[in-house]
Amino acid sequence: MFPTYDVIVVGAGHAGCEAAVAAANLGAKVLLATMNMQTIAQMSCNPAMGGVGKGQIVREIDALGGYSGIVTDETMVQFRLLNLSKGPAMWSPRAQSDRMAFALNWREKLEAHPNIDFWQEMVVGLVVKDGRIEGVRTGLGMEIPGKSVVLTNGTFLNGTIHIGEKQFGGGRAGERSATGLTEQLKELGFEAGRMKTGTPARLDGRTLDYSAMTVQHGDENPGRFSYTDTPPLTDQLPCHVTYTSPEVHETLREGFDRSPMFNGRIQGLGPRYCPSIEDKIDRFAGRDQHQLFVEPEGRNTCEIYVNGFSSSLPEDVQYKALRKVRGFENMKMFRPGYAIEYDFFPPTQLGPTLETRLVDGLFFAGQINGTTGYEEAGCQGLIAGMNAALAVQERDPFILRRSDAYIGVLIDDLINKGTEEPYRMFTSRAEYRILLRQDDADLRLTPMAAALGVRDMDGRIARVQSKRAGVADISGELRQHSITPEQINGYLESVGTASLKQGVKLDSILARPGVSLEGMADAVPALRDFLTPYDAETVNLAEVTLKYEGYIERERQAVEKMSRLEGIKLGKAFDYEQLTALSKEARQKLNKLKPVTIGQASRISGVSPADVSVLLVHLGR
Ligand code: FAD
Repeated sequence: MFPTYDVIVVGAGHAGCEAAVAAANLGAKVLLATMNMQTIAQMSCNPAMGGVGKGQIVREIDALGGYSGIVTDETMVQFRLLNLSKGPAMWSPRAQSDRMAFALNWREKLEAHPNIDFWQEMVVGLVVKDGRIEGVRTGLGMEIPGKSVVLTNGTFLNGTIHIGEKQFGGGRAGERSATGLTEQLKELGFEAGRMKTGTPARLDGRTLDYSAMTVQHGDENPGRFSYTDTPPLTDQLPCHVTYTSPEVHETLREGFDRSPMFNGRIQGLGPRYCPSIEDKIDRFAGRDQHQLFVEPEGRNTCEIYVNGFSSSLPEDVQYKALRKVRGFENMKMFRPGYAIEYDFFPPTQLGPTLETRLVDGLFFAGQINGTTGYEEAGCQGLIAGMNAALAVQERDPFILRRSDAYIGVLIDDLINKGTEEPYRMFTSRAEYRILLRQDDADLRLTPMAAALGVRDMDGRIARVQSKRAGVADISGELRQHSITPEQINGYLESVGTASLKQGVKLDSILARPGVSLEGMADAVPALRDFLTPYDAETVNLAEVTLKYEGYIERERQAVEKMSRLEGIKLGKAFDYEQLTALSKEARQKLNKLKPVTIGQASRISGVSPADVSVLLVHLGR
């Protein structure tokens, strides 16, 4: 009934969808096997993509040929570029999505792909022979042959949903949990753990009083995630902001003795940066209010997501407390919030391609690796899908370094440090963040994808070349031409920076704090004329590149220094126990994690600089 697939992807969440596309776009024959085809690319929690650290990842996925950015652009209802008051390394795009349109759009794109087949059923087991994957087994008892398998089970593995004192099996509200796989993986020698996450109640927007809340509009000139020609967003929906109060907190506290979080029923560790409302009240007892974002779920529904009110308290307690929030006095609830516990596999059991070290041809991506978030899941899917296809084609793996992309940072962190709690991306996790900005992910990554032969890259490469040439032209012009005090002093005074006494080159003015290229062009008509033919992205990139030249150069040098260590390869089969000069902890960790390079070894917790020196001496360096 089934051919032997190059890549079988299990699960069609954000990791699974990107994995299927990534493998298919490299020419692999792919099967996407998922429990329910009605929930392809379902946003389990917040209907939003991007945000701080995460928006950069979506742009990187797009630059590598993934679809998350395009789907988001085509279905978003609001766009904001966050952190604009900070430096460009921190600028982070975020979109409010239309939940139903997002999922439908993904499904249409997958179905339009000639290399992707579908199968709707639960995968309950793997076919493994002599340490190599050979396919999957389904609930109906079928064996589907595959040369590689990517597991992207999300929150479904032995998922347990908690609402107050009630608990029941489920992978997400209204969906079954997945059984069988964890047990078999443990038998194969994998270590498994338990994590938890939660989601807020959904409300009936027709019953809310928006006049009692603060409105939050999208950007006046909304940007987008994709570097392709996705349609500009013209008709944005507003979000609103309201607050909890001491009265709300008191009502919630009355339910604490029935909370699965506080009475020990939930064992798994939850996301520290996305705590439940009961957690926030408990941890920050001194605060008498918490901000709530009232977000539309889409254009064709009145359903509302209450961002900031994630809860697993009993439904009657949630209801009573929500009705005390300003603007929610008459609210009706569509469904209560809940928490979910699920199995994950500590990601230190993976190599940098996300292939497991125990079973050849078996890859893990997404929440199954202990991460949280659609963006984190999507980018792992992309890397696992690409590498599954490349391995089948007997080609070199595709590995991003920490200095190439946030995706490189995420995978390097996961496989070397592991994670005790749901891992989410932050800009602070990246040591080279001025090099990993959201404005140049295409310049960094699209040439790599094109070199690999990812489908449909010609147009993208042409854009990258034109953007690069545009940036060089603009920089050249600003470095070459001078400006007189008469032309610019009015503008300089208006932004509070010292006026000129004599003419200077344009680039030196741009380097000053508070000065923008847009402001300079307003003051100097010839500069405006020169910039007019270039698109906004190219002009912005030229501005950032010139303004932060010194910082960028410093980080480049640091990367070069580090890449010397990254270039020194370690043998996969080497037994570190033989190197008695290493500390005991280093020997154990190195034997367990089998780093590919000295650079990777140096980032493993427990491997000290002294241990790195021992390795270098051993390698004759
Ligand atoms: P999922 O999106 O969970 O997709 C898994 C897919 O695999 C599903 O399609 C499922 O049907 C399928 N599947 C599973 N097992 C099998 C099987 N054996 N056979 C066939 N198909 C299978 N993230 C945040 O960033 N912040 C939050 O606050 C947050 N809260 C959350 C609250 C809840 C209640 C849930 C459920 C998730 C929450 N998330 C949150 C996490 C976010 O939804 C995930 O990080 C993201 O969806 C993970 O993507 P994924 O592709 O790994 O898995």
